[in-house]
Amino acid sequence: MIKALRGMKDIIEDKRFLKIFDTAREVAQSYGYSYIETPILEETSLFKRSVGESSDIVNKEMYQFIDKGGNDVCLRPEGTAGVVRSFIEHKFDRQGVPKRFWYFGPMFRYERPQKGRLREFHQFGIESFGEASVYEDINVIALAADIFDRLGITYTLKINSLGCSECMPSYREKLTKFLNENKENLCEDCQRRINQNPIRTLDCKNQNCQSILKDAPKITDNLCESCKNDFEELKKGLDNLGIKYEVDKHLVRGLDYYTKTTFEFISDEIGAQSAIAGGGRYDRLVEFLGGKPTPAVGFAIGIERIMDLVDIKDKRDGIYMGAMIKEAIPFIQKKAKELRKDTKVFVEVKPKSLKAHLKAADKGNFKKALIVGEDELKTGKFFEKEL
Ligand SMILES: [Zn+2]
Ligand SMILES: [Zn+2]
Repeated sequence: MIKALRGMKDIIEDKRFLKIFDTAREVAQSYGYSYIETPILEETSLFKRSVGESSDIVNKEMYQFIDKGGNDVCLRPEGTAGVVRSFIEHKFDRQGVPKRFWYFGPMFRYERPQKGRLREFHQFGIESFGEASVYEDINVIALAADIFDRLGITYTLKINSLGCSECMPSYREKLTKFLNENKENLCEDCQRRINQNPIRTLDCKNQNCQSILKDAPKITDNLCESCKNDFEELKKGLDNLGIKYEVDKHLVRGLDYYTKTTFEFISDEIGAQSAIAGGGRYDRLVEFLGGKPTPAVGFAIGIERIMDLVDIKDKRDGIYMGAMIKEAIPFIQKKAKELRKDTKVFVEVKPKSLKAHLKAADKGNFKKALIVGEDELKTGKFFEKEL
């Protein structure tokens, strides 16, 4: 028997999946976002450049192969790279007007499958291009918060600022100096990060590193005037909308094109402090991938991460239609076509007794059953029962 690949899963009759999709789509559309669908397969170089050559995703987790034409291609490990590639390819970067997109689809990472982590998983995300204002960051965070609120998911929002090309380099110097002074007490990974990517030491999971890094210089204490003002506006703006947050000075992104606002939504309900969404500003990525410099901000939600947090209350809905004799089936099919304009209608195509139909309608969680027998077919009326 052929089985699905390890870490890949069929989604069958799972109402939570569609509910998350519908809710996220509705919220994004209510904020004026347009749908974008980009190919699942892209040139490997796109992810090497955008996700970063030194990242675990690119180094160990990509589904990368040479296709029959000899092209080095890759199943997308995340959604932003493809959307940015598309944004540039369609010359939106030259139009100088904001563009806002939402996407939903499968992503692929070859990692060890574990609870809540699959090799094929789904993400919903948005990307907003062309707006440098911090008020756009507030909108983007509010959009994510709205999705979680509508799904009844409780969260902790963590925010931080990563600074900009003005203030980040001098901060990095200070941090590197601190790290070198404490080098022998840091874990091997962090020792390597000092030269490669010192910022990444800040979110090292090693307890010992964490206790040392408590005293490290903080980005938010080293922001330039403009970044500082934006960070203050961000906090005020979230207060204004009643969105609660915590400033986490160790919340970082590992790549140079991330700037200013960064955020994560955390759930305590799925194990220790798991991120259910992450995002922020990436003002330099469009330029980094060959486009005209364009500010941008976005986030992505891991669908499988939040599935267990979504509660589906199974309400009865729709109509069940059944015939007791074969001759009545065309009659109910025609009637069903009309009724479907307003509601869900299921047509049973096997003739059954009244009792059997009512039992099936009840089991199917329908709200109402309409049954036709010989008498009903003559009069054109239904036997009707509310369930
Ligand atoms: Zn700055
Ligand atoms: Zn460490």
